[in-house]
Amino acid sequence: MTIFGEGPRGNLAKTLIPRLGLNEGKTPITYLTGVKEVWEIPEGKKNLDEVIHTLGYPLPADTYGGGFIYPMADRRLTLGLLAGVNSPDPFFDTHEAFQRYKEHDFIKKLLEGGKLLEYGAKTVSISGYYSVPQLTFDGGMLIGDSGALFDSRRIKGVHLAMKSGMLAAEAAFSALLRGDATRETLAEYEERLKESYVWKDLRAARNFHQAFDRGRMTGMLNAAFGMVTGGKGLTEWRSGKADCEQMRKVADYHGKGAVSAPGSFDGALTFDKVTSVFHSGTIHEEDQPCHLHVEDRSICHGRCREEFGNPCVKFCPAGVYEMAEDEESGEERLRINFSNCVHCKTCDIRDPYGIITWVPPEGGGGPKYTML
Ligand code: SF4
Repeated sequence: MTIFGEGPRGNLAKTLIPRLGLNEGKTPITYLTGVKEVWEIPEGKKNLDEVIHTLGYPLPADTYGGGFIYPMADRRLTLGLLAGVNSPDPFFDTHEAFQRYKEHDFIKKLLEGGKLLEYGAKTVSISGYYSVPQLTFDGGMLIGDSGALFDSRRIKGVHLAMKSGMLAAEAAFSALLRGDATRETLAEYEERLKESYVWKDLRAARNFHQAFDRGRMTGMLNAAFGMVTGGKGLTEWRSGKADCEQMRKVADYHGKGAVSAPGSFDGALTFDKVTSVFHSGTIHEEDQPCHLHVEDRSICHGRCREEFGNPCVKFCPAGVYEMAEDEESGEERLRINFSNCVHCKTCDIRDPYGIITWVPPEGGGGPKYTML
């Protein structure tokens, strides 16, 4: 038996789910990209004493998301911003939006005189209930984010991942005792999951995020109705499109010939991507094959540049993708700084042509988070 718990957009689960038809009749699994920092507050300054969740700001109205600020022990504070991987804006950049988030007067005051300790980025699956694939099959089970188990109302999946792991372990134990790991036996996991608080949480959140795809006001109204209708809200919303299908072309969204403006960062409150990556502790052995597979780079240099303005340069929160002049030809070519990768998986999900595949790098490299 194999239990797949690879987090959001696991590269094994991503192949397995369609190959075994586990997603038949389900909506596509959709995601948010979250960026997060931990700060140290100067000595003598009062730390925050409550948890704050925010909605919208500074995201455009057509991009779902919000932020969070939590106090931590030892004069530390953590804050972050999550934004829909389905943003229609081809120039949308979650890292940069987060830097603007910190410029809000309230947050700026909280961080003033403080020091950035750690940075990280990760996707979370947000689609929930209607997108949960069949979780068992002959010889295997899906748990946690690999099975889209995430409560979108509370932006929280760790409790669901742990419970699903425990129930999968119990089903695996029964299967071992019976000497039978077929789906019939492992189905015990799925049945018990549906009787547990995991399913109750997912059901109560089933229409929460989907309604925001129809605009922020509709989403908020639906959230209020959801509280008194057990999660139904205004209606049963089902989102049928994958994130990568929702990006609009530059000409449609920004106007013909528009180019994205570079971000501005002061190095004290706001940081560029290279500085942020430094604070993630990311290390990869340089002498290894690139773990970001781009199927056909001629698309990057041709169609993608024309249609979407090479959005990977913007949407990667670690500055891995760069369009740089090639020394030999003098033409702009895609450069992949794979050693910067913080393993968030945004590129594997958001790329509008579906030609980027993230695979685990050799040698166990990656971000070294200690506080996130
Ligand atoms: Fe995330 Fe892809 Fe950038 Fe790595 S290369 S940090 S997985 S978007």
